[in-house]
Amino acid sequence: MSDNKKYEFMDTEYPPGKLLVCPQCREYISYIDIETFPNCPFCNFHLARDPELEDFILQPLVIRWIRQFGNHGF
Ligand SMILES: [Zn+2]
Repeated sequence: MSDNKKYEFMDTEYPPGKLLVCPQCREYISYIDIETFPNCPFCNFHLARDPELEDFILQPLVIRWIRQFGNHGF
């Protein structure tokens, strides 16, 4: 692919996961902030729907499912 990515992400340890870097104001946005409405909570920049953004929003859910079902021997 290319390094011309639409969105920038930053890995975090607490909580483990990723934060989205707002393309406009450079603030770090949690997936919780954009789960319900796809705007930057700091500058109100509209975050266009994008496969990368979808993955970002869904990733914590996927991790939680893996943990839950993993513990039950799935
Ligand atoms: Zn912003």
